[in-house]
Amino acid sequence: MERGPGRTCLHHVQRLLFSIPVLVVIAILALDYYSLVIQSTRERFDRSPVGAVFLVLIFHICLILLLVSYYRCIFTNTFVSGHQPPLALRDAVFPNCGKCGNVKPARAHHCSMCRTCVLKMDHHCPWVANCVGFHNYKYFCLFIFWSTVSAWVFVIGSIDHLLNLFKGDSVDSPFVSLFAVILTFSFAVTLVGFLIFHLRLVVTGQTTLEFATTNRDPDWVNPYDCGGKWENFYAIFGTRWLLWLLPVKTSQETGFEFQQIVTSQDLEDGLLSSTAMKSDDNSQE
Ligand SMILES: [Zn+2]
Ligand SMILES: [Zn+2]
Repeated sequence: MERGPGRTCLHHVQRLLFSIPVLVVIAILALDYYSLVIQSTRERFDRSPVGAVFLVLIFHICLILLLVSYYRCIFTNTFVSGHQPPLALRDAVFPNCGKCGNVKPARAHHCSMCRTCVLKMDHHCPWVANCVGFHNYKYFCLFIFWSTVSAWVFVIGSIDHLLNLFKGDSVDSPFVSLFAVILTFSFAVTLVGFLIFHLRLVVTGQTTLEFATTNRDPDWVNPYDCGGKWENFYAIFGTRWLLWLLPVKTSQETGFEFQQIVTSQDLEDGLLSSTAMKSDDNSQE
């Protein structure tokens, strides 16, 4: 167990440092909003009123969905300590974490930043200053998705305005827009790769931690695979397609059920390989 004033102070400093990326995200969004909506809408509206209204509308919709996903990802509690096992598992015996003392169902890991165990831990993410786990993974994926869409809408929508600024057709300086486009373009390219990576994890029923510990083993069989790409997708995003892209809760599970799934599979066909066991032991220090 981690105790003492020195460790508490260090923990606060760590948390503060990890909130800086959140401020960076907000600053980039504010810069893009200023560049696309406040600085260039009038000039764009004079050239093409319909196009200007359409662009601003699309950008606002993407931005709202991005911000709600981001907010829910940051503030959703996905710790073991904040949730109770479902009634069907109230009598189940879970192992206990040696560091925080909480019960530790399958796929839960201890996070040294949060100093507690996290349900179906994916990873601790500085960009959301929180652990990404069972209860906020959908919001995290949607944050990446809407950030990617917003970034590309911004970059593509800013090109004509930027060209006009360089032609000298406007009194505005082109450098704020140029800086915003270069910065957002670099994020947009990175985000596409990140989105593909997490989409792959979703459809294969893995977390980032599990992928990191098992991807080099060709014989590894995922004991948490729900049976197909769509089944794995439904387990996180639900079966109602209208809610897939909205930052609302859609999973019917609680994050404790994996214990049951693993036990039944283990008894039934022995799929729980030694590698999967190893991945559970390699919990985050
Ligand atoms: Zn723990
Ligand atoms: Zn954490």
